[in-house]
Amino acid sequence: MKLLINDKYTNNPNDRVLDSIISKRDIGAPVIGMYCGYAPVELVRAMGAVPVCLCAFSRKTIPPAEAVLPSNLCPLIKSSYGYIKTDTCPFYALSQAIIGETTCDGKKKMFELINHIKPTHIMDLPQLPDEREALATWITMVHKLKDWIEKTFSARITEEHLESEIKESNQKKRLMNDFFKYIAHSPPLMSWEELYDVFGIELVSDSHELRQQLNAITIRLDERLNDGVFIGSIQSPRVLVSGCPVGGDAAKVFKVIEEAGGVIVAMEACSGMKGYTIEIKVDTGDPIAALAEAYLQIPCSCMTPNQRRFDMLDEMIDRFKPHAVIDVILQGCHSYNIESHRIERHVRDKHQLPFLKVETDFTESDRAMIKTRVQALFESI
Ligand code: SF4
Ligand code: SF4
Repeated sequence: MKLLINDKYTNNPNDRVLDSIISKRDIGAPVIGMYCGYAPVELVRAMGAVPVCLCAFSRKTIPPAEAVLPSNLCPLIKSSYGYIKTDTCPFYALSQAIIGETTCDGKKKMFELINHIKPTHIMDLPQLPDEREALATWITMVHKLKDWIEKTFSARITEEHLESEIKESNQKKRLMNDFFKYIAHSPPLMSWEELYDVFGIELVSDSHELRQQLNAITIRLDERLNDGVFIGSIQSPRVLVSGCPVGGDAAKVFKVIEEAGGVIVAMEACSGMKGYTIEIKVDTGDPIAALAEAYLQIPCSCMTPNQRRFDMLDEMIDRFKPHAVIDVILQGCHSYNIESHRIERHVRDKHQLPFLKVETDFTESDRAMIKTRVQALFESI
């Protein structure tokens, strides 16, 4: 099969993001590191700064992290902290300031161990999103973040710039959502790995560049369609993967699903499609409030109740037409783990779809066991 994205970054998509950050830093743009989808990137971009994701998915930094952190903590937190402890994360090294949020306990307490290294701001995230006070509190927190960024970098974020970044974000989300039709196709025209490459392109592009890049990729996808080149076949079990963020060494679950004969047609997590689903209101006269309202709708399991996650799953199941749902839980992630029970009931009862919960870490030790369970799931379809 011809490469979908044929450029110097195909072998290491992370380099694309790194090169882009360095080139922007070299012309004077501040770099701000973030750990979570609740940090509004539009605020950062409205100051001319570059937002960088610091979540890490490598097992290699977990042993040094475990010298300080409990071994039964979520591997994502251990990996991220291990990179900082060993001073090996280029993204963290480039970051001049850090934004954290009070999502899960592990992350929240990890921030206390690193907040002396770089200027750090923690956003206090309300976790009962449907309560009347939640939005007012979150608007205050977004205002506080703006004030902190402005003070830290002696800069000013104007309403005009913020409004413009909000429109930019919305355009990119629309482009990406439309592009997802290629993975929704039956059989899919692109693999999850190719879509991850596209996520990388989206991260470093403005809407104009993204449109151009997607147009070029679309030509290759249309060629695949004409040539009858697909990922898997019409018989391949179509899988929607939900749950915790997945990348790097955790992507073994995706690989196992493919090895077992399945195709991935949707990825619900923050590392997948979740971030592209919520548009921000425009021209309201209060862009901070509009930002806060949109970001508070993110359906992370740290929220209770988290009805929006079930609504989002309904929409994804309708659109991507999976034959099964596999919920990936990182060990030690209690909120996604407990919520998995309700997700299973919802998927089985409302959609009559087979469901599998895979609790895993970043090692390879459970790979064979996961494969056996995925094969058994596919036999039940
Ligand atoms: S899963 Fe929740 S805590 Fe983790 S990055 Fe996404 S929104 Fe943040
Ligand atoms: S996967 Fe779960 S425990 Fe790990 S950082 Fe995300 S929300 Fe926290």
